[in-house]
Amino acid sequence: MCAIEAGKRGRHVAVLERAERIGKKILISGGGRCNFTNLHCSPENFLSANPHFAKSALARYTPADFIALVQKHHIPYHEKTLGQLFCDRSATDITDMLESECKTAGAKIFLKSKIREVQRTTEFVVRCESAEFHAPVLVVATGGLSVSKMGATSFGYDLARQFGLKIVPTRPGLVPLLFDSNDLSHYGALAGVAADVIASTNHHSFREKMLFTHRGLSGPAILQISSYWNEGQAIHLDLAPQHDATAKIRESSDRSMATARRAFQEFLPQRFAALWLELNSTGAWTNPALEELEAKVHAWTITPSGTEGYEKAEVTAGGVNTDDLSSKTMETREVPGLFFIGEVVDVTGQLGGFNFQWAWASGAAAGRAL
Ligand SMILES: Cc1cc2nc3c(=O)[nH]c(=O)nc-3n(C[C@H](O)[C@H](O)[C@H](O)COP(=O)(O)OP(=O)(O)OC[C@H]3O[C@@H](n4cnc5c(N)ncnc54)[C@H](O)[C@@H]3O)c2cc1C
Repeated sequence: MCAIEAGKRGRHVAVLERAERIGKKILISGGGRCNFTNLHCSPENFLSANPHFAKSALARYTPADFIALVQKHHIPYHEKTLGQLFCDRSATDITDMLESECKTAGAKIFLKSKIREVQRTTEFVVRCESAEFHAPVLVVATGGLSVSKMGATSFGYDLARQFGLKIVPTRPGLVPLLFDSNDLSHYGALAGVAADVIASTNHHSFREKMLFTHRGLSGPAILQISSYWNEGQAIHLDLAPQHDATAKIRESSDRSMATARRAFQEFLPQRFAALWLELNSTGAWTNPALEELEAKVHAWTITPSGTEGYEKAEVTAGGVNTDDLSSKTMETREVPGLFFIGEVVDVTGQLGGFNFQWAWASGAAAGRAL
């Protein structure tokens, strides 16, 4: 996106990509259909040590701008849920579109060009294995640490440090959480079971699906809350959003485990309802006991032992400290001509097309300033 915008303005642009093709993460994103933006994108959908930083770039390159590009290329797409836009056919539609736009703008793409070293003399000298590039400006768009088999490395952060920039400590975001050994022994057998929940921690809540895995919890509600979760903290799960879960037990003439199971199966999958009640009800069915059960089902507390890590994380939270960058252009304050865009910057989107929207918007902001 940065190359396209800069090329359109007549700049000579070389895109250096270590892989044998561009946009590999685009190709695997959204289950191969790329959730390329979100209709309801706003600064609140992003995490950063400075929550105001992303505002300017997001306002100057909006989802409507990207949708206009998609429409110009006659790419069929649809809204899946919650404003999330996906390709109807395949994510290759998006990489083909970006490649074609680069070509039109005269931006050259050099594949299999892994950057080994960057030096700054009177200009930037970028050394790959078999070629050397010289340029007055350099834009770093190397992405985060998630999924090393896609080529993710710490190169962008190392480069930032080399030029004296600060890094907000990185951590995996949008990542499945792990049960501790006790919860795993109880709930591990539920792998594959899903439920509609509200997941909360640190004053953030998401109502979406939760999925049991062989090692812990996943699904959109958990991925979303994982970005706000810190090691050692608890997450709270409302397993019965907007349900008076114990009403049917209170009203029944047969207050028993069998009645409770029937009542809970109305909002939870059968196996989960039975197991959860077995582990969390006291076996007493008095009004106070039912009140306690009601409270518990709306705030089931789990303290994950950790996350599945960068290999399973959709994004890397943290990154190049935004204090060191101009929010209008993404240029570093201390090193004129050096820019950082996309995921390597300490701006992290929620699940739902926001990370790509940040990549497009920050790329456009830099491209228009080169
Ligand atoms: C499984 C998965 C699914 C996802 N799905 C979605 C989704 O549907 N919607 C969404 O919004 N976000 C999604 N994301 C997140 C999104 O893919 C990233 O946030 C986005 O790709 C970041 O863009 P970027 O250009 O900053 O970095 P990247 O897309 O990671 O691109 C960085 C590029 O730099 C290259 N590079 C790195 N180091 C060097 C070097 N030394 N020399 C040369 N080249 C180098 C890499 O090969 C790579 O091509 C998903 C992520 C994953 C892992």
